[in-house]
Amino acid sequence: MDKISLRALLKERVSLISDKREQSELIAQKVKTLRLPHGSICIYNSLDCEADTVDLINYFIQTREVYLPVVEGEDILLVKVDSDTQYTVGRWGIREPRGERIAPKTIAPQITVTPLLGADKNLNRLGKGKGYYDRYFASLGETYKVGLAFREQIVDRVPADKWDKTLDALITPDEIIERK
Ligand code: ADP
Ligand code: MG
Repeated sequence: MDKISLRALLKERVSLISDKREQSELIAQKVKTLRLPHGSICIYNSLDCEADTVDLINYFIQTREVYLPVVEGEDILLVKVDSDTQYTVGRWGIREPRGERIAPKTIAPQITVTPLLGADKNLNRLGKGKGYYDRYFASLGETYKVGLAFREQIVDRVPADKWDKTLDALITPDEIIERK
C-alpha cells in the first residue's frame, strides 16, 4: 500500500483504539527495560493519537539530559527540559517547552524517540507526511532511533523512500523489536 493510503487507514484505526492508556503503560514499562546508549535523549510530548510519553519524559529527566522538539517552519529545534520547565500550547495543540531553541546538530542527542503513525516489524517508520524527522535525521550524525507503537499501528509493510531512516528499536505493548 502506498504511504498516502496507509496514513488514511492508520489514522482511522488509531482513532478507534479504546485502550490507549493500558497500551501506553505497557509500552513505557518496556522502554524502561531497554539498554539504551548513554547520553542525551530527544523525546516528543505525545498527542492523543500517540502512545503517551509524559511518564517517560519524567523518567528520563531523572538520569539524562532531555530535549523536547519544537517545530519552527520546516525544521525541528530542541529545548532542554527539566522538572521546572514551563510549557505553552503551540501549533497542533502540542505542549511546547519554553526555553532556548537549539539546532539539533549542536546537541546531537544519542537517542531520539521518534513519533510515528505506523511502523512495520522490519523497523520501517511512517510519519504524518511532512518529513520533519527525516530532515532531522539527515541533519544529525548517528542517533539511536526508538519508535513507540500501539498494536494497531503495526502493519505488514511500510514503504520506504530513499530519505527514510529505519528505526533502531520499535516498542509495542507486546514486544521489543531491535535491529539485529
Ligand atoms: P513522513 O516521514 O512524515 O512519513 P515522507 O517520508 O513521505 O513523510 O517525507 C515527506 C517529505 O519530506 C518528502 O516529500 C520529502 O521530499 C521530504 N524530505 C524527507 N527527507 C528530506 C531531506 N533529508 N531533505 C529534504 N526533504 C526531505
Ligand atoms: Mg519519512
